[in-house]
Amino acid sequence: MSHDFSNGHLLIGGQWRAGKGAPITSIFAAEGTENQTFNGASREDVEEAIAAAKAAQPAWGALKPHERASYLYRISEGISANIDRIAWVQSRDTSKTLAETRALAASAAATFRYFAAVLETSDELLTVPRGDYTTLSVHEPLGVVAAITPWNSPIASDAQKVAPALAAGNAVLLKPASWSPLVCLELARIIDEAGLPKGLFSVLPGSGREVGNLLVEHPDIAKVSFTGGTSTGKHLARIAADKLMPVSLELGGKSPTIVFEDCDEDLAIAGILFGIFSSSGQSCIAGSRLFVQRSIYDRFVDRLVTATKALKVGHPFDADTQVSSLVHADHRASVEGYVAMALEDGGRVLCGGKRPEGLDAGAFYEPTIIADVANTDRICREEVFGPVLVVMPFDDEADVIAMGNDNEYGLACGIWSRDHVKCQRIARAIKAGTVWINTYKQFSISTPFGGDGASGIGREKGRAGLRAYQSQKSIYEDMSGRPHPWARWP
Ligand code: NAD
Repeated sequence: MSHDFSNGHLLIGGQWRAGKGAPITSIFAAEGTENQTFNGASREDVEEAIAAAKAAQPAWGALKPHERASYLYRISEGISANIDRIAWVQSRDTSKTLAETRALAASAAATFRYFAAVLETSDELLTVPRGDYTTLSVHEPLGVVAAITPWNSPIASDAQKVAPALAAGNAVLLKPASWSPLVCLELARIIDEAGLPKGLFSVLPGSGREVGNLLVEHPDIAKVSFTGGTSTGKHLARIAADKLMPVSLELGGKSPTIVFEDCDEDLAIAGILFGIFSSSGQSCIAGSRLFVQRSIYDRFVDRLVTATKALKVGHPFDADTQVSSLVHADHRASVEGYVAMALEDGGRVLCGGKRPEGLDAGAFYEPTIIADVANTDRICREEVFGPVLVVMPFDDEADVIAMGNDNEYGLACGIWSRDHVKCQRIARAIKAGTVWINTYKQFSISTPFGGDGASGIGREKGRAGLRAYQSQKSIYEDMSGRPHPWARWP
């Protein structure tokens, strides 16, 4: 399959043109080749995009909901009509399998469609009459919003921010990660072709420290919606605190998966493999800490290792590939560093722990399972963001709840058991924004998503996802016409 990349021009303030910032190179890490080098956005580009967004936003915010929704439906259709191309570009940009990038593109189309529908069906609230007053609670756009996204699922995380922010009546400036700069240019092309008013949406690839910081610090940016690492999120939150600016933070994870002796083992093994090794583990919600009840620990872990060794590691364009290359050779070096650290701490590699043979040109790493670790080791505490699973035994519910929660993150959790009441009990007791019972990594755009603790602040998706990009105003109107009792003049 082959397509061309775009000419590397950016959509800045409604104009397609070369960026004036530092060059960015997109790599096809699976083959160790370069996709494209082009100039990112400069300070001047950012200023221009913000000025254009500020000028375009009031008219957009004043449109009727169904009028704004019609643009979002067109964007959704544009994405659907270009799934193959978007998937190809994203697979080249991130080395994810085509099956996965197709699914991500389809989910981006669904996200635009969903928020168009939410917008059209959202009601403002006429609150219960209190005496002489009628009170109305209305939602208004915030103004110009910055969306900053990571490299691991760009089109989906871009859509998750851009769609509700536009639906809510804002202008949006999107800054993608430097390792995955290309697919957002495809999204920009589709948004532009859908006829969105010029200036309302700009795409500003560039380094986080330069372009990202400029956006967050700028006085005309009313909100930052960020998905990325926890340390970056904390940095942005500090800047936001100084401006008293709202932020949404979707951050990292170290999610526990809990396997009870009464589970359906075949279902559990397939779900666990998908939960940690899909996307080569480069997923915020990866189920990276596995707790298995001691009574079945040895047998279950043996079966899991056998199943892991049978996973197909290969080129992202091969239809049967399950585990592809990591996004970048530098990222693989970081994953290798974590595995070395685990071994130094006494961990034992049950499978993987090295680069696969015959795929030397790419940044591949074998699906890896490590045992004999303590929940307090760095390999169990920190996000590896690669195909590395740590496995530990537990005795009972109280034991596993304590171990599961003994981590600063709180993004997701998987539970495998046939006892539904127990599953619900654990789900309530675990610190996580999302819990999957007898499944993993399943999503619905209508279900809120986000993290607790070091995994973030706020929720995306769902009807409330629209409100995250609006401010609420209450309006009181006196219906009596009577003067206030303070009116005592003669
Ligand atoms: P990252 O924090 O390095 O970068 C994310 C984005 O922030 C990029 O666009 C980057 O350029 C920008 N950035 C970096 N420094 C910045 C700064 N000083 N000011 C402004 N912007 C800055 O993260 P990453 O390596 O691209 O992505 C991986 C991380 O994202 C993982 O920790 C993963 O868990 C997290 N993630 C979370 C979710 C979620 O929904 N919770 C989803 C996907 C990824």
